[in-house]
Amino acid sequence: MGISFNTEFEPRYGQRVDISPLIRRVVANNPNPFTFTGTGVYLIGRGSVAVVDPGPSLDDHLDAVEAALEPGERIGRILVTHTHTDHTAGVDKLQARTGAPTYGFGPHGPVPDAHPLDELSFDEHFSAEEAEEFRIAWENTPDELKREGPDHDFVPDKVVTDGELIGDTDGRWQVEVVHTPGHTSNHVCFSLVDDGNGDRVLFTGDHVMGWATSVISPPDGDLLDYMNSLSKLLGCDAVRYWPTHGPAIENPKDYVRSFIEHRRSREKQIVAALVEGPTSIKHLVPTMYADVDKRLWRAAANSVYAHLLALERQHRVIRHDDGDSSATGGTWLLTGV
Ligand SMILES: [Zn+2]
Repeated sequence: MGISFNTEFEPRYGQRVDISPLIRRVVANNPNPFTFTGTGVYLIGRGSVAVVDPGPSLDDHLDAVEAALEPGERIGRILVTHTHTDHTAGVDKLQARTGAPTYGFGPHGPVPDAHPLDELSFDEHFSAEEAEEFRIAWENTPDELKREGPDHDFVPDKVVTDGELIGDTDGRWQVEVVHTPGHTSNHVCFSLVDDGNGDRVLFTGDHVMGWATSVISPPDGDLLDYMNSLSKLLGCDAVRYWPTHGPAIENPKDYVRSFIEHRRSREKQIVAALVEGPTSIKHLVPTMYADVDKRLWRAAANSVYAHLLALERQHRVIRHDDGDSSATGGTWLLTGV
């Protein structure tokens, strides 16, 4: 079963789009390889409105978010799905404008100074021209396009917990917090009990998106948590998902099942390779991703690493440090459990 991605999306930057009687959206003009067409900011409710993820700290964008309000309305809460800067960089400015308190699971988890796979290279698989072309392209790529930037400054005014209900004072809307670690350890989705049309819908942040799979970047990103958080959504009865980036997801449970299946098939490939004997990420990637653009192999290595750490947490593999692990991604072997 493949994943049915949907990349049909017209962002209409800076314009308010009315999605349902209780949901409005404004998309920020910050497209890049992680944000797709930009950060979609949702406004929930009427009167005292909750903003889900303010997005980047672009003044024009924050003006547009405020302009999405009707006369007499105000932003009463800022809900945060997780601490990546394309979601939270605008928090301080929006809070200064509105005085609204922030709600989130907690600060970003620790991130090491050096990424464990920084020394990993696949140059021997490239021609000299390819290697030079890829090296220059990588060096010229801005940092924010190399990886999603963690926001280490965000601390929620109100710490939310799994299952907690948040709503406006006269009860016109209510969301339930669903803790979904994986993409980041502090990721939450917000389940709107009624979107004004009688439908329960889920704001999924970056946990489940229509246009692409989520990046799982260890150590704060955790694939085993992510898989458990996907399964958790199968127990939630939302009829539609509204991710931060890209279009809505209809038939969400089938879609989530296809994500689970996709990752399981990758895991099976890794385990099958390890059955042949201990091997390293450096050797796994060119075989597993032979039919994929070689420029994506660095990202693929990160995904394989996330899988191996998940298998390690389940005691299914162990890591054999060969003294050269940053260049090879470590050598891994099956435990036989
Ligand atoms: Zn993110």
